[in-house]
Amino acid sequence: MTGERVYNFSAGPSVLPEEVLKKASDEMLNYRGSGMSVMEMSHRSRIFEKIIGEAEERLRRLMDIPDDYAVLFLQGGASLQFAMVPMNLMGRTGRAGYIDTGHWSSRAIKEAGLFGEVEVLASSADRGYTYIPAMSPIPEGLSYVHITTNNTIYGTRYTSLPDTGDIPLVADASSNILSEPVDIRKFGIYYAGAQKNLGPAGVTVVIIRKDLAGGHLPKTPTMLRYDIHVEKRSLYNTPPCYAIYMVGLVLEWVEAQGGVQTIYAQNQEKAELLYWFLDQSDLFSTMVEPAYRSLTNVPFFLPSEELTQTFLKEAEAQGLVNLKGHRSVGGLRASIYNAMPKEGVEALVAFMKDFERRYGR
Ligand code: PLP
Repeated sequence: MTGERVYNFSAGPSVLPEEVLKKASDEMLNYRGSGMSVMEMSHRSRIFEKIIGEAEERLRRLMDIPDDYAVLFLQGGASLQFAMVPMNLMGRTGRAGYIDTGHWSSRAIKEAGLFGEVEVLASSADRGYTYIPAMSPIPEGLSYVHITTNNTIYGTRYTSLPDTGDIPLVADASSNILSEPVDIRKFGIYYAGAQKNLGPAGVTVVIIRKDLAGGHLPKTPTMLRYDIHVEKRSLYNTPPCYAIYMVGLVLEWVEAQGGVQTIYAQNQEKAELLYWFLDQSDLFSTMVEPAYRSLTNVPFFLPSEELTQTFLKEAEAQGLVNLKGHRSVGGLRASIYNAMPKEGVEALVAFMKDFERRYGR
């Protein structure tokens, strides 16, 4: 990190690569000789069509997305996908299966219940969402099965995918898209709000197998129909142009790092360093079962609220910020998305070691 910048462990919106922020700043007033900012351009202009087209191409290359899938840049966050998914897919049978792995999947379940019958196929609520539950055999007649690939608050992630056979698997990948390789062919829909691993808030990426668009429930608003957005290539109305441009710059950065495999190796190194420290510490603890540990969100705890507050205050004074755990679980959490450099995690672990030396028994 340079200058006055801190190591920002926010769960989202989150740290972006410095190279991306610098490039956006250089291009702010005059984007590549156009004499204007990307913020000031018509979304129907050639120049913007190139920006959105290149962002899509980069994501297709990075994730190896085949031609029978569309890549959409939508608004409304992952939360709107909680509604769009059932509105567009539930019509097939009127029933959908959901796996409950915590706060965000519960929200998705609640929203789906507005549009049809929801069957919770498995839940990890019994042990405080500290693991990923195994799924019982899938009942007949489900329109789709929904999972949350990484649970931002509890720090769990799917390390192997459930086998749903012919039933489309739908995934909320908001907090781990592009952090590790995935086979997109295993999913019917794979969606993510951008503000953690992909760019700024304001755009949601939806990767959808094209044959799943078009089956929406009657009276689904036009703006919420996947088939419309697929047909219009995300340009049915004014898209979040600047956020899409920023996502394009982040994807360019990921390519320059060597792609998803390289990023994955870096993420593993960062996460291992932090978990290694937590596992051997007598002062800090983590609840997440080792087999399901997230590479992007690491929740951890100190023995008392008083010590937790002292930790947050002292960490901030050292430029290690946004380490407070989600209000529903308390404690601490380090979000270490793609753009968090290894040095940031090293600085955190060094601080934690010193904290333990001073406050441990
Ligand atoms: N799903 C997951 C896994 C998340 O972590 C979040 C936000 O933190 C959301 C959904 C909600 O996303 P949004 O604010 O884009 O609606």
